[in-house]
Amino acid sequence: MIDIPRNILRPARYIGCEPNHVRKDPGDVTVRFALCYPDIYEIGMSYYGLFLLYEVANNVRGVWCERCFAPWADMEEHLRRSGTLLGTLESRTPLRAMDLVGFSLTYELNVTNVLNMLALGGVKIRAEERAGKAPIVIGGGPLMLNPKPYERFFDVIVAGEGDEVLRSLLETARDMKGEPRDSVIREMARLEGVYSPHIPSSRVKRLFVSDLDSAYHPVRPPIPTVDSVHNRLNIEISRGCGNGCRFCLAGFGYRPYRERSFEAVKAVIDEGLRHTGYEEISLLSLSSGDYPFLFDVLKYAKRTYRGLSVSLPSLKIGSIGKDEISAMGEMARTGFTFALEAPTGSLRSRLNKDIDVQALVAQLPHLKALGWRRLKLYLMVGFPWETDDDLLAIRDVITPFRAAGMDVNLSVSPFTPKPHTPFQWLPMDEENVLAEKIMVIKDALKKTGVRVRYRDTSVSVVEGIVARADERLASLFEHLHDRGVRLEAWREFFSFEPYRDWFEENSADMRAYTGGRDRAGRLPWDMVDMGLDGTFLGTELDKAGSGEMTVSCLAGCAACGLGCSLPQRTFRQERPEGVTVSDAAVRTAEAAEAPKKFTFRYGKYGDARYIGHLDVMNIIVRAMKSSGITMRTRGKYHPLPKIALTDALPVGVESFAEFIEVETGGGQRVEASTVRMINERLPSGIKIYEFIEGSLRDMVKEYLFLLIADAPVEDGPTLWRRAKDRFFYMWRGKGVKQLWMEGRFTRIIKVESKRIDGF
Ligand code: SF4
Repeated sequence: MIDIPRNILRPARYIGCEPNHVRKDPGDVTVRFALCYPDIYEIGMSYYGLFLLYEVANNVRGVWCERCFAPWADMEEHLRRSGTLLGTLESRTPLRAMDLVGFSLTYELNVTNVLNMLALGGVKIRAEERAGKAPIVIGGGPLMLNPKPYERFFDVIVAGEGDEVLRSLLETARDMKGEPRDSVIREMARLEGVYSPHIPSSRVKRLFVSDLDSAYHPVRPPIPTVDSVHNRLNIEISRGCGNGCRFCLAGFGYRPYRERSFEAVKAVIDEGLRHTGYEEISLLSLSSGDYPFLFDVLKYAKRTYRGLSVSLPSLKIGSIGKDEISAMGEMARTGFTFALEAPTGSLRSRLNKDIDVQALVAQLPHLKALGWRRLKLYLMVGFPWETDDDLLAIRDVITPFRAAGMDVNLSVSPFTPKPHTPFQWLPMDEENVLAEKIMVIKDALKKTGVRVRYRDTSVSVVEGIVARADERLASLFEHLHDRGVRLEAWREFFSFEPYRDWFEENSADMRAYTGGRDRAGRLPWDMVDMGLDGTFLGTELDKAGSGEMTVSCLAGCAACGLGCSLPQRTFRQERPEGVTVSDAAVRTAEAAEAPKKFTFRYGKYGDARYIGHLDVMNIIVRAMKSSGITMRTRGKYHPLPKIALTDALPVGVESFAEFIEVETGGGQRVEASTVRMINERLPSGIKIYEFIEGSLRDMVKEYLFLLIADAPVEDGPTLWRRAKDRFFYMWRGKGVKQLWMEGRFTRIIKVESKRIDGF
């Protein structure tokens, strides 16, 4: 049983006993792989790519893939003070004892976390200093489309989508187990899309999955034990984007546009919900409105899973019609989010952002009729062609939305030029200019009731530096690491000072990174072959200069060089003739008519004692739903299951006397086999012991707390028993949290009074 100091915030981040986590016998596997996400648990556990790689890796014979996240500052201090190495969640094996350590880098400000995690895990930061049994450290993710700045830290780098090549990397490690480390690295570097910075090579070819429909999709994601940022079932409906927005790395770095068929998405929804019991799904796409089966998927989800919510993280204005809005209206948990990017049509033409704001305005009455009152819009500032008139025009754009009574949240971000995009050569505005432009937007929207949020401009400058960095900046990351910089994506830990210091100390010019680039010169990221025609990006930049748009890959082909136009059109499928919903599904929906109540007694013990009360509730509700219990819900737009609980138990305190009451339809049956099924879906340390058909009132009896100490406790609780050097006390009063935090008791356990002799 893990013992986490009581002052540690959200200790459940570190216990790793979630439903669907994978545990294997170390004696049965050949390769131990630590899949690391360089941010804290709640962020990493929201990332679809992590779940995908976790399942792909664990499906490889002889491989055990475990997860590792960056610790929060309090846990880092504890690790350092206690001399404990950072290890994996599943088995707490230190990183240095693993065969492979892989990082997925998705954000520029997380690079310092990679170095910190390696150091905390007992792994040398520089690849050249690793030898013998040291793990092979692999880098992947979007940042590796410009890998030069990170080469010093990785043994092996994957350029592009890694879900298919990961299997080959793991098989190589497995088949070559016991051979010299260098030989394994050399063999890995032979794979397409993979290279080792320490073996001379020329260019590396970017990888992408050619047939998304038959590519693996995760269906058993571990369910977070701490509410993550996006705690829901992610369904990847498409990958890449055909719109060609000229500033967008995702749009150019993940070409071509590919999608999953309606049948494939349906199967993933069914299986994913069966294994998780989630009450919300998110349809992942760079532009979900472009997905041709969106309406069909929404209709299927709505008919089949009563009370299920759906979110669409990214919508292009004008890309969804009345049907989709109606279907969303009853299922969406959050408001609609649209990327406006620039206030005026002329500026948007330069960005190749083809949206129809008037179409959205025309849809406002329909949105309102369905209960929607909130819109979130994204805007960028800092494009070279931008004028004050462009910025001031934001007021005219927003006016119809406000006049229609919509709440508008506007999120403003500075433009940072990204590699491999047509804007890769453009300069980034100076920080003071960006700040002025944001103020123009804020002033223009004064007294309109629009909530304006904007990004810290110094954060954007750092993003701009890192995004277009070269190998010289490896020293910057080491300097930051030496200064204790980490967790920079969190406002309380970000500081521009150490960056400024490095540039000053090294007489380096920051503008060399944030300023314009010579179109005739070589760029650090040219070493990654994106598969694009050598002139395509330059032509796109020229067209931006003249305000000329390029056709979307969904409507034509701009001949970018990928040569995918024919297969691409084959990928796109006709809308099905109508969606059928299975009888069983309809019966499931109809079952919830006349209500019934069931109450369950459950225990929370061992490592699970660190899971918070509400998180335990969510975990149990999901396990019940995926075991076939259909709960009645309350609330039209944000349906929540009808449940009742006993008082919250302090984090760290164990219990065998917790109760949850759920309301179901009249046809619901609960049997011993149902309880067994639920227990199979619960993490170790949470278990249902018994149930009744009835309410909490009918089941909850008297309880008390058993307190265990290693030494006599002078005041307060009543001594019950003593066994060797253990002292057992009883406590019926309030203030259990205080008793736990005082630290005099090693365990506190809530039990039913009838189970304790003499009480
Ligand atoms: S080849 Fe044509 S359709 Fe394919 S990504 Fe390039 S521009 Fe788009």
